[in-house]
Amino acid sequence: MVWNDALALSKASKKYPGYNALSGVLTLTKKTEAREWLKDVSSVPLQQALKNLDTAYKSFFDSCKGKRKGKKVKPPRFKKKTNAQSATFTKNGFSVQGEQVYLAKIGNLNPIWSRDLPSDPSSVTVIKDAANRYFLSFVVEVEPVSIAAKNQSVGIDLGIKTFAFMSNGEKAQSPNYSKHDRKVRKLQRKLAKQVKGSNRRHKTRLRIAKKHNRIADTRKDFLHKLSTKVVRENQSIILEDLNVSGMVKNRKLSRAISLQGWREFRVLVEAKSEKFGRQFTVISRWEPTSQICSDCGFRWGKLDLKVRTVTCVSCGSEHDRDENAAKNIEQVGTGHGHDSKWTGRAGKTTSVAQPVELSRITVLKQR
Ligand SMILES: [Zn+2]
Repeated sequence: MVWNDALALSKASKKYPGYNALSGVLTLTKKTEAREWLKDVSSVPLQQALKNLDTAYKSFFDSCKGKRKGKKVKPPRFKKKTNAQSATFTKNGFSVQGEQVYLAKIGNLNPIWSRDLPSDPSSVTVIKDAANRYFLSFVVEVEPVSIAAKNQSVGIDLGIKTFAFMSNGEKAQSPNYSKHDRKVRKLQRKLAKQVKGSNRRHKTRLRIAKKHNRIADTRKDFLHKLSTKVVRENQSIILEDLNVSGMVKNRKLSRAISLQGWREFRVLVEAKSEKFGRQFTVISRWEPTSQICSDCGFRWGKLDLKVRTVTCVSCGSEHDRDENAAKNIEQVGTGHGHDSKWTGRAGKTTSVAQPVELSRITVLKQR
């Protein structure tokens, strides 16, 4: 409510009033009858809501001025009561006492701990998701861990059927979501026919939210386990920069791709690489990783998606399409890529990768 009130006021103003002014208004509104109940709640999460709105506005302004890299940021939007809700308590609004968590004006909670806190948390966010589950999420400082890696480097090709194909020949299948997915779609059709604001519709909405949670939990679990394994075992991890947002526009693949969460995987691998002191590299998606023989560097050109195995006409070696791509990703990322200009058909094989991104070695591997 604080977020929505402040956003409504900001939208109605000629210029965004800023955090201090909005905070002043909040103090005044607490004196009105309609918002009197806000006094029963700790002021910390209320201030935090205004700070979050402030950050959202600043990101939007920076994005407009071109000061921010990446996708254009949209202006903040009103929050719905039925969506996930959160409240953040900073240092002076909470404390951890043994197994218990004390929240200002709420009291002691007895959460189920997923793991021990590695250090003193600087803040805690209480999250209520759309399926009415409650979570506590702590912000903690983590020291880097040092574990020796088994392998020097690994290149990973991300795919649809096989989620990840590694250059060492290992692969990871993504969990099968289709059963949950079918149920979600069925429930969504049901929801569309139900009367807005009705009790039955509310129940269907909850059931959909619960199903979505199940899918998200399965996916998160899979991605966490896989990313931990990859980062633990390898000193250098190389991924291909995939144009995920471009691919999701393709409606046929959209469900499969967004479910599989390539982006989530990349974020996890990057964060864990930092934690374990690993090198994390992303190579340009324009690298022709599926068009080149990973053994001799011969360029055979574009392959139809249906073609799963290739026999190189130059050196005769047989390749699994995905494994070959993963090997090429590793070679490019570690700076040992074959120069396609050398062996490819003239005129068609100009590399468009940034020279700073990789140093290429123009030597043919002998077999
Ligand atoms: Zn070859």
